[in-house]
Amino acid sequence: MSVLSEFELIERYFRHHGQSRRDVQLAQGDDCAVVKTTPGTEIAVTTDTMVAGVHFDDKVPARALGHKLVAVNLSDLAAMGAEPAWLSLAITLPKADHTWLSEFSAGMHELAGYYHCQLIGGDTTRGPLTLTLTAQGLLPEGQTLVRHGAKPGDWIFVSGTLGDAAAALAAQRDDLEISSAGQKKLEERLFYPTPRVSLGQALRGMATSCIDVSDGLAADLQHILKRSEVGGRLFLTQLPYSDTLNTLSLEQKRHYALHGGDDYELCFTIPEEMRGSLETALTHSGVDITCIGQIDRQPGLRFFDGDNEVTASGLGYQHFGMATL
Ligand SMILES: [Mg+2]
Repeated sequence: MSVLSEFELIERYFRHHGQSRRDVQLAQGDDCAVVKTTPGTEIAVTTDTMVAGVHFDDKVPARALGHKLVAVNLSDLAAMGAEPAWLSLAITLPKADHTWLSEFSAGMHELAGYYHCQLIGGDTTRGPLTLTLTAQGLLPEGQTLVRHGAKPGDWIFVSGTLGDAAAALAAQRDDLEISSAGQKKLEERLFYPTPRVSLGQALRGMATSCIDVSDGLAADLQHILKRSEVGGRLFLTQLPYSDTLNTLSLEQKRHYALHGGDDYELCFTIPEEMRGSLETALTHSGVDITCIGQIDRQPGLRFFDGDNEVTASGLGYQHFGMATL
């Protein structure tokens, strides 16, 4: 028996542990992984990188890093309506810390396994901690959810609640005062986001546009407006908050919901005539959605508090040192 190198050992953590997909012809062990495609199916591909010291610090548990790396990629697949299928991991590590590796890989395998998604290959190198994952998902031909299809009159929806992850970061930096129980709940959302995979697939054929909220609702919704060449009104009083966020001031929770990011909820547009079908389709999905605005022709995103239009300064951006937004 040959002696395994340190990095051969590491690669063992990233062999697929669960049930293998039938469409995987070859996974680890050859120069490439090989997967089988079926006629009428398109493949959505996305990559995300997380760099230590840039995207996360040492407060983040290794298990959460593994979960989040998979979650952010699956969230991009969800935004396109794709069904997750295959993952490839490129991991750069300063050293082989086996406790860290077993926690990190467990976090990855748990979430990937839940969505029947197989890790089919990757690369391991030595260097500053950097995690890169490519996810590929399946789409029925011609049914991709895109950013450019929103039309005047469409309703703007968002899933789940907004702002928790950003509030967790603020609490960690002592920019937000909250009970330790409250901070823990917020950190759950920051460390273990839920990609809205089944919602994305349910929206195929219904939503005229869709995006996942990774950079903050206001910024991400504006991507839809720009790509669709439309404008939109956002109803501030309709923004959905968690119970924990509801303990904050109105100004604070609006700020985190609009500009926080890391929510990994889906923001999408639905034509009036599809609203009934949308409610029926989501009855059993277990995901709450909220109508938060409407698309119109006037360029840009405008904020309304009841009937009154609110300017950016009225939203208190400066108060949070965000005047550059
Ligand atoms: Mg995205």
